[in-house]
Amino acid sequence: MYNQILNDLKPYNATLIAVSKTKPNEAIQKLYDLGQRHFGENKVQELVEKHERLPKDIAWHQIGHLQKNKVKYIAPFVELVHAVDSLALLETIEKEAAKNDRVIKILLQVKIAQEDTKYGLDKDSLNRILELNSANTFKNISIVGLMGMASFTEDHTQVSSEFALLKQYFDDSKDKYFKESNQYNTISMGMSGDYKIALQEGSTMVRIGSLLFGSR
Ligand SMILES: *Cc1c(COP(=O)(O)O)cnc(C)c1O
Repeated sequence: MYNQILNDLKPYNATLIAVSKTKPNEAIQKLYDLGQRHFGENKVQELVEKHERLPKDIAWHQIGHLQKNKVKYIAPFVELVHAVDSLALLETIEKEAAKNDRVIKILLQVKIAQEDTKYGLDKDSLNRILELNSANTFKNISIVGLMGMASFTEDHTQVSSEFALLKQYFDDSKDKYFKESNQYNTISMGMSGDYKIALQEGSTMVRIGSLLFGSR
């Protein structure tokens, strides 16, 4: 399955985040031995424990909703925070990154699903954060792109149009706020059930768990 997924990603030059939440270290080590280096977790404590026990050259991604009071635990090592969905969280990451003398890469999570259960910024809040960022407000954060989750539905047309919306937000905001920089280059969208659709709609980074590790 691993090689199959890598083959699917290749034409798009997209990055695979192996989502290892709830899975044991041995399963992660196995994929590591095949060459995988980017892993994603959604619980801070699990992320920290796995970071401590597994090879140090793993790039750890915080993929799920993140509470402000947990940021300090991952700030020393996290590769990319995928789901920044408020200015308050951004400011906390900025502060903790500074303490660690780091620049932390983040993605802003945008609400694209018609479902009501998903986190994410609306267009206005997204633009407000990007305006602040353009004013050099954040010295220890690098906003490298956007992240989104489509509705959990079998309706491909709907999933497709939600991903297309995220791509649209990305293109618009890149044009408006990141014209002279290459840092803004990531669209994190697509999971086990919808990554092929996400790739067609412009994903550069997919987060795949169950398809790689089995169901949870
Ligand atoms: C669990 C999770 C994934 C992976 O889901 P699968 O359906 O197992 O591929 C991707 N993104 C986020 C934010 C997750 O929490």
